Amino acid sequence: MALADTEIESLETELQEINVSFENSSAVDILAWAGGRFGDKLIITSSFQDCVLIDLAVKALDKARIVFLDTGFHFPETIAYMHRIEKLYDIKVEVVDSGLPDDVSPCGSPDCCHKRKVLPLLKVLETGEGWVTGIKRSDTKERESSPIISYDAAKKVVKINPIATWSDQDVQNYEDNWNLPRHPLTFVGYRSIGCAPTTRPTEEWESPRDGRWPGMGKTECGLHI
Ligand code: SF4
Repeated sequence: MALADTEIESLETELQEINVSFENSSAVDILAWAGGRFGDKLIITSSFQDCVLIDLAVKALDKARIVFLDTGFHFPETIAYMHRIEKLYDIKVEVVDSGLPDDVSPCGSPDCCHKRKVLPLLKVLETGEGWVTGIKRSDTKERESSPIISYDAAKKVVKINPIATWSDQDVQNYEDNWNLPRHPLTFVGYRSIGCAPTTRPTEEWESPRDGRWPGMGKTECGLHI
């Protein structure tokens, strides 16, 4: 969404006020607001490590654009789980890839996340005005101060994090309460699931995100931070 500087300023002021009011709102209410505000310009991205965000979106929205960024290096279990969720909710996920062959900027190379995740996301977001993500403040130190709603100046969209205030336990409770299907790798110790070559299972005493990019000194792929 191309906005003049003055429009961005007034949008940011508006969103700061809404952000305060959303601190005590339910995720469904936040999503319903986003649907009302952005309509078919609302884009939801999911990594399909679980289906909580999809379940919330289906409850809150008449229709939603759900996007999966396919790096080419995901676990086959993730792709199978995504198709299972499509069937369960009768939705069609937009699978977006970089178009790169596996041997160009492969997993672990310095620019892989940027080329296989960030650039395809930016292209998708050019077609939207609101971007819904599943990030939580409890995920990592870097995400601790994530607002529920804000203007993302780099991506030129309003970013909405409806479960920003949730803990991992809240996610589990929601899955239990609604009897949601789990990603199969969660049964063998994977608690944060990204690309296969850079994800490992974690012990109970570790943070789930410790299983991402182990030994690489990296905590984010660049989509959010
Ligand atoms: S984790 Fe990043 S570096 Fe590895 S394949 Fe996925 S996008 Fe590429």
